[in-house]
Amino acid sequence: MENKKELRSWLDAFNLSHPLVIAGPCSAETEEQLLKTAHQLKETDATVLRAGIWKPRTRPGNFEGVGALGLKWLQKAKEETGMLTTTEVANPHHVELALKHDVDILWIGARSTVSPFIVQELADALKGTNKTILVKNPVNPDLALWLGAVERLHQADIKNLGVIHRGFSTYEKTKYRNNPEWQIPIDLKNRFPDLPLFLDPSHIAGRRDIIFDLCQTALDLNYDGLMIETHYDPENAWSDAAQQITPERLDQITIDLRIRKKGDEKIAFQNELNTLRTQIDVIDNKIVEMLGKRMTIADAIGELKKEHNVAILQVKRWNEVLGRMILKGEESKLSEEFILRLYKAIHQESINHQKKIIHPNQE
Ligand code: PEP
Ligand code: MN
Repeated sequence: MENKKELRSWLDAFNLSHPLVIAGPCSAETEEQLLKTAHQLKETDATVLRAGIWKPRTRPGNFEGVGALGLKWLQKAKEETGMLTTTEVANPHHVELALKHDVDILWIGARSTVSPFIVQELADALKGTNKTILVKNPVNPDLALWLGAVERLHQADIKNLGVIHRGFSTYEKTKYRNNPEWQIPIDLKNRFPDLPLFLDPSHIAGRRDIIFDLCQTALDLNYDGLMIETHYDPENAWSDAAQQITPERLDQITIDLRIRKKGDEKIAFQNELNTLRTQIDVIDNKIVEMLGKRMTIADAIGELKKEHNVAILQVKRWNEVLGRMILKGEESKLSEEFILRLYKAIHQESINHQKKIIHPNQE
């Protein structure tokens, strides 16, 4: 993946808007549903219509897509609206059918990216087709697996490549359906600045109300576009109903988003500065989140100490922690003085928490 220009060429060749907006239903359900949604989307900034034809469902028994029939509806939507089309392919048979129905962009889903066998099969099936392929991140937070999939496609001579950040699954319940783990796409972007990067806020959020904020963070990080699940009647969607939005809402989102203008040196400087600042914000959020988790554990220790009538301050343990963190700090080029100040503050906050547990009525 050396030739940087090559990686971006398809965005220019299609003369695509920046940021590129891909929108459409999670699943094609009926001809009427797809066409109605597409016609409403035509009036928005969306230029690419998405629709899942074969749906990978984590558990059996859910709607698994209408299958090849839906490709005809997608083709009809393209003819009637002039939008480009995109769908997910998960095996060579899907590829063959999607090519036959002239789908413009194919994407590889998160559950396929995890398997080098599946990705290789897809790469072999796509060889020599000149199609544009977008690779969603694997469900697990593994950058190497994501890049590996892109490399397999690149080795099969597929030049028009991009990646979609759709979040990562965690066992722990969070406010997201899939944790964004922004650091992973940021690392990817730093390594391959010219590989187009898109955000799928719908599968990260799992709900409608936080889609706008996710989109804004992505644009502040200089993403190239968005893929947003959109349905003319989201509440009655056959899959992912809670996260889909109406074309009208999509329109409002794109109006409200702050979009970076490309321009002279001063604007370029400001853009770069903002991107770096957003990266810092992502890390700061993580630091405070981790500190909160640390305090929850300190609280549990406080409860235990209370039960067993043990003193809050355990000097030996504290010195051990401090010694270990000073060494760790050295590895990360952090001075001893800084680690001391930082850990004193953290330790004091833990003590304050535990005091409240052991002596709830004391000031
Ligand atoms: C989808 O886009 O509808 C989908 C199934 O996505 P993912 O592979 O990210 O779960
Ligand atoms: Mn979906």
